Amino acid sequence: MIEFVRIKDELIEIEKAIQGVIKRGWFILGEEVENFEREFAHYLGVKYAVSVNSGSDALYLAVKALGIGPGDEVITVAHTFISTVDAITRNGATPVFVDIEPDTYCIDVTQIEEKITDRTKAIIPVHLYGHPADMDPIMEIAKRYNLYVIEDACQAHGAEYKGKKVGSVGHLGCFSFYPVKNLGAYGDGGMVVTNNEELAERIKMLRNYGQKKKYFHEFIGINSRLDEIQAAVLRVKLKYLDEWNNKRREIATLYNRALKRLNVVTPVERDYAKHVYHLYVIRHENRDKLQRYLLERGIQTQIHYPVPVHKQKAYLERHLQIKLTVTERICGEIVSLPIYPWINLEDVRVVIDTINSFLSQTKV
Ligand SMILES: *Cc1c(COP(=O)(O)O)cnc(C)c1O
Repeated sequence: MIEFVRIKDELIEIEKAIQGVIKRGWFILGEEVENFEREFAHYLGVKYAVSVNSGSDALYLAVKALGIGPGDEVITVAHTFISTVDAITRNGATPVFVDIEPDTYCIDVTQIEEKITDRTKAIIPVHLYGHPADMDPIMEIAKRYNLYVIEDACQAHGAEYKGKKVGSVGHLGCFSFYPVKNLGAYGDGGMVVTNNEELAERIKMLRNYGQKKKYFHEFIGINSRLDEIQAAVLRVKLKYLDEWNNKRREIATLYNRALKRLNVVTPVERDYAKHVYHLYVIRHENRDKLQRYLLERGIQTQIHYPVPVHKQKAYLERHLQIKLTVTERICGEIVSLPIYPWINLEDVRVVIDTINSFLSQTKV
């Protein structure tokens, strides 16, 4: 079986780091968290990084820290993981969807302005699959209409926009450390990054019951913290992130070269972008057949995502009239192939050959 994704890390170093935390006996908001926050901020080139319990909470608290709530609108995409949008609705605000580009699968910046109203407060672009959204036009629109930009970088640790790490371009950047992300913990975890001291301070309080001083609560917050063990694991893994991202890029290059020759729609990497291939997504009109064919031959694939957010049961009633042409078309055609830094190159070859044999069959 060629697995869709597998986790295999620098185990000895990580075990040592975990043991260190256990020996110290301090598990919440301690030195590992402080050090990881500083190291992650340095890696991205931002002033502040505040760790939280998950990528979903990072997004939720980013929206909350900006004071966005009922009556406000936030512009984002429907072709994303649900929690991008939940971050808006959990704060009582209204998500307003913009269609995506058919090649990068990121927000179509030419369609943002027509969705802005006097209730619009922010834009959340998603760097989907590890490819950056086109940030310059987004920041320009945000400036013109006085909006905030929250980057959903949950799939794009280390990806770059014009040489800058994503997450560092907007007012706030959100990351997830869910185990299979490019930088993954041994459990849940997340981070909000910013250059704005006031916002960083606010998120620090929000994640910790609205308190700065223990048992003195200035506003209502939540309990959303990265724990010391996860921070210790992530500090080790951060050292390998660039190496692992480069491996992902090498594997993507192998896929690209072979699949382009077979006339499969492969991912693009814009001139402005450094793609980190959290997912390697191709498109085919007979996607379901292709997926079944691969599985029957021992190759696991996944679909990210089969149903766009505005078509999900949880959101359907609110968004009945919306039509997102590209989003709705491509979700029936996309399929994510196995990619992770330590995937066997022979396995990559097998995936390519199997797609090849599927295509030569369906031609007749
Ligand atoms: C993973 C992910 C999230 C949520 O992160 P969790 O840590 O799983 O809560 C949000 N947005 C996108 C695009 C993601 O891929």
